[in-house]
Amino acid sequence: MNNTSKIFGVNVFSEVVMKERLPKDSFKKLKKTLDLGEELTPELAEVVANAMKDWAVEKGATHYTHWFQPMTGKTAEKHDSFIEPTGDGRVIMEFSGKQLIQGEPDASSFPNGGLRATFEARGYTAWDATSPAFVKDGTLYIPTAFCSYSGEALDKKTPLLRSMEAVSKQAVRILRLFGDDQTQKVTSTVGPEQEYFIIDKTLYQERKDLIYTGRTLFGALPPKGQELDDHYFGSIKERISAFMKELDEELWKLGISSKTKHNEVAPAQHEMAPIFTTTNIATDHNQLVMDTLIKVANRHELACLLHEKPFAGVNGSGKHNNWSLGTDKANLLEPGITPHQNARFLTFLVATIAAVGRYAPLLRLSAASPGNDHRLGANEAPPAIISIFLGEQLTDIINQIKDGALTSCTGQTKMDLGVKTLPKFAKDVTDRNRTSPFAFTGNKFEFRMVGSTMSISGPNIVLNTIVAELLSEIADELEKADDFNSTLSEIIEKLVKENFNVIFDGDGYDPSWIDEAEKRGLPNIKTSVEAIEVFSRPEYVEVFEKHGVFTKLEVLARQEIMFEEYEKTINIEALTMLQIAKREILPAVVRYSGALAKDMSAIASVLPEADLTTQKDHLLKVTELYAKSVKAVENLEKVLAEVKSIEAVAEQAKAFKFKVCDAMQTLRVPCDELETLVDEEFWPFPSYGDLLFRV
Ligand code: ADP
Ligand code: MG
Repeated sequence: MNNTSKIFGVNVFSEVVMKERLPKDSFKKLKKTLDLGEELTPELAEVVANAMKDWAVEKGATHYTHWFQPMTGKTAEKHDSFIEPTGDGRVIMEFSGKQLIQGEPDASSFPNGGLRATFEARGYTAWDATSPAFVKDGTLYIPTAFCSYSGEALDKKTPLLRSMEAVSKQAVRILRLFGDDQTQKVTSTVGPEQEYFIIDKTLYQERKDLIYTGRTLFGALPPKGQELDDHYFGSIKERISAFMKELDEELWKLGISSKTKHNEVAPAQHEMAPIFTTTNIATDHNQLVMDTLIKVANRHELACLLHEKPFAGVNGSGKHNNWSLGTDKANLLEPGITPHQNARFLTFLVATIAAVGRYAPLLRLSAASPGNDHRLGANEAPPAIISIFLGEQLTDIINQIKDGALTSCTGQTKMDLGVKTLPKFAKDVTDRNRTSPFAFTGNKFEFRMVGSTMSISGPNIVLNTIVAELLSEIADELEKADDFNSTLSEIIEKLVKENFNVIFDGDGYDPSWIDEAEKRGLPNIKTSVEAIEVFSRPEYVEVFEKHGVFTKLEVLARQEIMFEEYEKTINIEALTMLQIAKREILPAVVRYSGALAKDMSAIASVLPEADLTTQKDHLLKVTELYAKSVKAVENLEKVLAEVKSIEAVAEQAKAFKFKVCDAMQTLRVPCDELETLVDEEFWPFPSYGDLLFRV
């Protein structure tokens, strides 16, 4: 075994470890409970807890934590040690089944959108046994769900698990109709590609905007940006390479199959991608990836920026969410060889297309965040319009279906849906369009709108739920049909006709697409605040309730939290800007102007005949921009005070977007211009050039 296979998963309480450590019958029982999603008996929990503790202690753990994912989108942990006093001044290491299964963190400070005020003050955490426990930094981490005592989800994991169950249930119904009596479960799978920036830590620490907000709020463009495309897939610098090597090792130890790493488009931008796994584990893993990126960077005197737009003028970062549905035997979005497989493939494909077409605003919502507003539609990421890229071959097939190919062909062969053989899609054939927000890439869909800091839970909750809805509608029809073939053909044709408009293979960055999309009647929800508003539309609440993913109350709570998060983020950004402008930029400009004036009078005294017009013009320009900046500071302060007095949360969030963000931009412009005029020695923080190129 080489080193990598030796370290892979060493810190994970995996199935292999369980098999090794648990008594045979306990392991069997546990496996069965997990496979069927049943509840653990207290006796079994006791046995598992004990084995888990012994294993963790051998790995150096002294503590355990119920690791959960509150609605902040981050993860939360509170560590308890295993120690139990024996009464004679000594301690033993104890961990009970009860402690494994359920915890009660006093987690009352997490956002809950009013859910816990109405119901129950306490929340509790419950072991999600489908995601393995692991040891990290001397603590046993137990992935858990976080709920209120009356059962409302207070986290991002519970609804994700619910949505996985929903889509599994409906997909299994479809498989039954296709004659599959074996499959018990269909799993939604995800492989999230993570983009990030790496800059020097010392420089990072000199930028208050990066420290407080994760992005630069000021900064003139450097002479060189990404125009040469010389960074993309370029040779990786040694310092970065050393960081990436350690990152991989840390991730592998946690059982995260980090697979790909490369330089991205913008200078200082990089990407890592793992091999896909079940949505639930992929979501946990992505949280660990983000956490590990920051920690390992820090060890290398580097800083990792996960923000969607750390720098104006160069590309920001996203997270491509590759999604599919699979049984233990097959990927359901993989075109098959037999007509039967083709029919099944087309059913799942068209269900997904129709789900995306019909629920486009929900998908848009799932990628809404203050950071992502800077990317979507800015010609570096997909536009805010949801469309689907299928590739030439598949578009052609869908075209035929739209024109009635299925109906004309039914009756020929059993299960032949007019497409006798589907080509095996070579990946490079299908994956050419990088401008599409939702692209079919051979055997999966790639949702490219998600922001780099976001939890992938939200987008996958939406995907699973809307696809579950379409599958359930198809199953309803088929279950009562006399003739399976002709009914399926009719359904597919109808869904294709209804949703044909959402299919677009052209250039999503082209301005003409915006007009074209409008003509097609596709929604273009430009900003996050507008996207958040759609969450509570009755038809969306209905679909979430129907599939048991969110109750109406949970939707309203989440909507409120999203609005609040939006405002708080912009508020912090605005305050940070004010602080930097007032305490760093403006004083520096005064010092520089003073020095300039002194130098000029010194010149004039030794050289009275010298023409100082250009110097004077320069000083005048600086002084004018100074005055402009001061005015912009006052304006931002005024706007901020006004907006803060608005009571209704949705209205306030909108005012932050449309008023505060504008006032911030008005302040940024003269300050950035000043940066290009003021002597570098006087400028109070590192420039874009330093941040992007000095690694
Ligand atoms: P790209 O050209 O977009 O970089 P890759 O082949 O590297 O494409 O895949 C991107 C991601 O898609 C990887 O994380 C990969 O594991 C994932 N992926 C592949 N197959 C599936 C699937 N069936 N379900 C979900 N994700 C998948
Ligand atoms: Mg990709």
